[in-house]
Amino acid sequence: MTQEPEHQLAHWLAEADHAVVFTGAGMSTESGIPDFRSPGGVWATSQPVMFDQFLSSADARREYWRQKALAHEGFVRAAPNGGHRILARWERDGKVKAVITQNIDGLHQDAGSQRVLELHGTARWVGCLACDARFPAGEMVARYRALGEPPDCPECGGMMKHATVSFGQSLPERILADATSHAQNADLFLAMGSSLVVHPAAALPEMAQRHGARLVIINREPTPLDGTADLVVHAVIGETLQAVEARR
Ligand code: NAD
Repeated sequence: MTQEPEHQLAHWLAEADHAVVFTGAGMSTESGIPDFRSPGGVWATSQPVMFDQFLSSADARREYWRQKALAHEGFVRAAPNGGHRILARWERDGKVKAVITQNIDGLHQDAGSQRVLELHGTARWVGCLACDARFPAGEMVARYRALGEPPDCPECGGMMKHATVSFGQSLPERILADATSHAQNADLFLAMGSSLVVHPAAALPEMAQRHGARLVIINREPTPLDGTADLVVHAVIGETLQAVEARR
């Protein structure tokens, strides 16, 4: 590689007809939301509650709601960062055809991205596991705080859980199918802010590359796909995207 990486990426973006962006928790750290696996990330202080534990144990549901109520504050305070806004601009310019995200914070949509495929659902809603009724997360977190206990569904008394995908729960089929189709049709696949270890989401970059896309990884730390990617930038997303934007 003789060109600087930002210049190379700007060039590939200019050539692309179907660029697809794939984002992880690192996309939102510059908005003040901690990721999971970095030092100081969520897993430094909390263990994930598996879906089967959530279903079978009242204590696990209490721990789940404790973690979710805590995270809720961070989500409410956060606003999209410069990186989110640049990706929305690339979509408006017709370059980016979809943003596939593992994030549950809704910040891509707040920044103006239209075609956002939320593989792991959204923390903005809470749903009933029995009757599928949905409520804004803020309403249910307030109820949790008032009760000091996980809330039951106001419609049917069923168990309430955020509309996010827990470990052990399957990904939304239609969204995964749509994401797979975008990965297979991509000519440029930009994976950013993801450790690329959570499956099946992390299989998408490899799939895109197998189907002919150039694979670009922007991540502060190394990922398991660095060895096969066409371009790897170990840097912060915001600055990197700004540098690419300046060279477009
Ligand atoms: P991860 O925590 O496993 O990896 C994040 C990666 O981003 C790390 O490798 C880190 O080095 C990198 N990173 C952090 N800040 C960065 C920055 N500013 N620029 C460049 N790189 C940066 O996250 P993951 O791969 O998305 O997988 C974890 C799961 O976490 C996902 O399923 C997601 O649903 C969930 N999650 C979401 C949010 C959110 O919605 N904002 C926050 C935490 C976790």
